[in-house]
Amino acid sequence: MVPNLLFWDVDTQVDFMDPEGKLYVPGAEKIIANIQRLTSFAAEHDIPIVASVDAHLETDPEFREYPPHCLAGTPGQHKVAGTMLSDRYVIPNRRVDLPADLGPYRQLIIEKQATDVFTNPNIKDLLRRLGRDREIILYGVVTEICVDQAACGLSQRGYRVDLVRDAVRHIDAAKSSATIAEVEHHGGCLLTTEEVLAGALAIVA
Ligand SMILES: [Zn+2]
Repeated sequence: MVPNLLFWDVDTQVDFMDPEGKLYVPGAEKIIANIQRLTSFAAEHDIPIVASVDAHLETDPEFREYPPHCLAGTPGQHKVAGTMLSDRYVIPNRRVDLPADLGPYRQLIIEKQATDVFTNPNIKDLLRRLGRDREIILYGVVTEICVDQAACGLSQRGYRVDLVRDAVRHIDAAKSSATIAEVEHHGGCLLTTEEVLAGALAIVA
């Protein structure tokens, strides 16, 4: 059976991706073009995108470990240009009732105040609503932190997770290699953006 694809975009926000950002991930600006291509492709081919975003408050415990970044409502918290769709629905980090019909929303943006997206209590409901038969195409930053936690959480819940290796960026190369090994250990593929678009084209054709 041909899998239904779901693209999963991790924290592609100005404070991480822009060299002027508050917690800039070195080299992250080099993957923006690929993330824009993945975003456009999903929109053109009706592939939903789940996108996590940090939406921090000044008092968040995470700031004991990292410098302040992605404060809610600041320019640095915005997703970088070309990674947002107009038909989007933002899911705050508190229990909410999701819309009865998610169909009109092509991008589901999940807010969080910690590195792990599964701290948002609505994820379980969202995944159930998107359907279990999804193959997840994962990309964003930082490979060995938030991408890793998304990959682990999704694998643990039984999803096949493929990683787009030219649309992720790391801080620590050795730790990011461990993330990649873990994705492969769970049966996922390491793909290029080009391969995702070519493969997805075959699937949606
Ligand atoms: Zn954060």
